Amino acid sequence: MTGETIAAIATPPGMGGVGIVRVSGSLARAIAVGILGRVPEPRQAAFGGFREADGGFIDEGLALYFQAPRSFTGEDVLELQGHGGPIVMDLLLRRCLELGARLARPGEFSERAFLNGKLDLIQAEAVADLIESSTALAVRLAGRSLQGVFSHRINALVECLIQVRLHVEATLDFPDEDIDLADEPSVAADLSAILEAVDRLLADAHQGQIIREGLAVVIAGAPNVGKSSLLNALCGSEAAIVTDIPGTTRDLLKFDIQVDGLPIRIVDTAGLRHTHDPIEQEGVRRAQAALNEADLVLWVQAVDHQPDESIRATFPAGCPVTRVRNKIDLLGESARLIERDRETEIALSVATGEGLDLLKTHLKSHAGLSTHPEGAFIARRRHLDALERARQALRAATATLDQRLGAELVAEELHLAQRALGEITGQFTSDDLLGRIFSSFCIGK
Ligand code: GDP
Ligand code: ZN
Repeated sequence: MTGETIAAIATPPGMGGVGIVRVSGSLARAIAVGILGRVPEPRQAAFGGFREADGGFIDEGLALYFQAPRSFTGEDVLELQGHGGPIVMDLLLRRCLELGARLARPGEFSERAFLNGKLDLIQAEAVADLIESSTALAVRLAGRSLQGVFSHRINALVECLIQVRLHVEATLDFPDEDIDLADEPSVAADLSAILEAVDRLLADAHQGQIIREGLAVVIAGAPNVGKSSLLNALCGSEAAIVTDIPGTTRDLLKFDIQVDGLPIRIVDTAGLRHTHDPIEQEGVRRAQAALNEADLVLWVQAVDHQPDESIRATFPAGCPVTRVRNKIDLLGESARLIERDRETEIALSVATGEGLDLLKTHLKSHAGLSTHPEGAFIARRRHLDALERARQALRAATATLDQRLGAELVAEELHLAQRALGEITGQFTSDDLLGRIFSSFCIGK
């Protein structure tokens, strides 16, 4: 626990019916006495006047006192609920500072809750994600992470991993007995079960990350095939042009849209082509960067022209591609969706709107929305990176085992996997990581 007491206005700036100043730390009691004349009974609302040092009136309202460790931060916490005017709140905050508190940094209450073991890192992040949710679905998923759905699965994996590690490390302690790990079926079986669980968790976490950040869709294709028209049709009235990236001469546009609650970030890469103009080169570089982060490429083609297959080379390897064969009205074809081995093809007409519903359903199923909405949870890119590292270490452990390279190397990889999983819940962290996470929170949270 740190010695300093922190204070912040927890409600948003501006005027409102109620405004809240929050205090956490060992001075909370003294601050209650200084402002209210007494310490309220823990966890009971106390009505009273909020006063200056000379007894002058600041406001009147409710005070709530939570005694350590039974509070959000795990420290003594005081909440003063007054009238939500900016000057009132400012006076109240100043009074807390006068009584010894210092101004809280963004996310510092949550950081203390984490450091005092009240929340793990996933849950602390879920609080911020809940606040920042842009759809009702994101709220539900953040709620599940906050309630421990994601943490529980990580912790269960870590438990299994520890068991395997103990088993492997035990053989290290008895080098003379010459136990060959590869001949121990349980180690290999346990490892493969853990790997499968990591794969499932990674898939679910990816879905949660898409709900949090939006499905990243790139629209690519030759000029005049109908890319801009398709974008407009998908945007509908919910269209919000977020950025048109400065420095590009044309046509790399980003849109944030929603299709039935699914947030989608669409990038139109119309400007993607080889060029020697430095400004355009920058545009091409950014378009390529957008492509590399894509969850899905929509490759738009017009049915009345041969598609330019050479564009395919610009798509990131491994990224799913959906061919959108536009302008079926010209040939009088009907809309349809064909699932191929590694590629989906959708024939539609932006002009008549026929087949757009097929595309929307396809986008939703691509985000995993139609398959299993229950049990889903919110996740961040950092969680995916760590899960990916855990998976790689587990695969390396399996390969090491198969090749009989020795228990020591297996143990080393298992250790790496456990560390990666521990980073997700915050069991292993660096100050740098914590700083990055909590500094993006709101003040007073
Ligand atoms: P982009 O260059 O790929 O962005 O293509 P645009 O969206 O600017 O469209 C090029 C032309 O195709 C415009 O004249 C559109 O009106 C037309 N177009 C777009 N979609 C359709 C369609 O489904 N059917 C027909 N007949 N024309 C379309
Ligand atoms: Zn266009």
